[in-house]
Amino acid sequence: MTTTLEPTMSTCRACLAGDLFLYLPLGDHPPANAFLKPEQLDIAERTFPLDTHVCLNCGLIQVPDVLPPDFFEDYLYIPSASDTMHRHFSALAERFRKDFIADSGQLVVDIGCNDGLLLKACQDAGLSTLGVDPSRNIAELARARGIEVFNEYFTAESAPRVRAQYGPAQVIVTTNTFNHIDNLHGFMQGVATLLADDGTFVIEVPQALTCVADNEFDTVYHEHLSVFSVTSVAALGKFFGLELVDLDELPIHGGSMRLFLRRSGPAKPVVEQWLQRERDAGLFARETYVRHAERVERIRTSLMKTLRDLKAQGKRLAGYGAPAKGSTLLNYYGIGPDLLDFLADRNALKQGRFAPGSHIPVVSPDEIAARKPDFLLILAWNFADEIMAQQEAFRAAGGKFIIPIPEPRVIG
Ligand code: ZN
Repeated sequence: MTTTLEPTMSTCRACLAGDLFLYLPLGDHPPANAFLKPEQLDIAERTFPLDTHVCLNCGLIQVPDVLPPDFFEDYLYIPSASDTMHRHFSALAERFRKDFIADSGQLVVDIGCNDGLLLKACQDAGLSTLGVDPSRNIAELARARGIEVFNEYFTAESAPRVRAQYGPAQVIVTTNTFNHIDNLHGFMQGVATLLADDGTFVIEVPQALTCVADNEFDTVYHEHLSVFSVTSVAALGKFFGLELVDLDELPIHGGSMRLFLRRSGPAKPVVEQWLQRERDAGLFARETYVRHAERVERIRTSLMKTLRDLKAQGKRLAGYGAPAKGSTLLNYYGIGPDLLDFLADRNALKQGRFAPGSHIPVVSPDEIAARKPDFLLILAWNFADEIMAQQEAFRAAGGKFIIPIPEPRVIG
């Protein structure tokens, strides 16, 4: 059953301009992380429109439709499942200790701390930590690691209580969470409240330039409400007296960036270089998004032909990974259990459940050796190299991989 959501805005979530362009209406989707238990399969799923817009003023890609908050109480994404993220967070903790924390009493606050992987790395580096996460089951996992957790949403209203209880934050960090936030201005007000005068706000998010250039349309789902341009973050910070002073490119999640904001500059040259790069790439031009949407349709045609031809040849197909982005891709392209026998995922919380919308069963990767599919469609394409390395035995036995993004290709 489709639930029509009242769009919460007619203006950009970051810069507040009214210049939103709907370039990729993806249709009605169930929430991307609403994996179904077997007894839920016969119940009609709730679906919601997923309409991808871009702000032609600041380049923020955004979905106006926001799910009710009860969808996030039983949250299934756990970054600890990935070796890549383990290494990534250890390096980030070391960076905090080296560049931003003068003494070990200064606080690092991770907003959207998930199961505490980053903060555990911070503790191992000798730093004081606090996690903020509204999800009850995830907060318990972090606490089990010895992480103190403030178990609420981070907002303009809750931030003063965090500061009163724990003091100012020398570093506020949010990894792959900022893109989940509907009320960015409320969140930033909270950051401005909690951050120490000489503190640093660090954001890691997928970035718009790669998303558009590499056809990563599935980066958008109802929980990933935004894909940020550098321009959009700079514009947002200005409302709250925070200046974008530095920026790292990150190879994770198919092209991400780490942004550093402080109450005063100077900004490193890389910031202006990126702002110029976004202008040069046409990130504020309607035509850029029209062409992107055309490429997304071409991928559908090519990928569906590949899968159907293989199926017609009697090949056994399965998916590797059951990430939220996979829900967008499977449901938009119409890939179901008629094409993929199962999805293999290391996240035990998803195993034994069924993918939302497509109803493809999710199993342990151990099933790959037992059921011997001929092809694995890598839905977690941002971890394709890691997955192919882990599945060396599958490849050695003649198995092949299909990577859908940025263009469908077969490897084996
Ligand atoms: Zn904007």
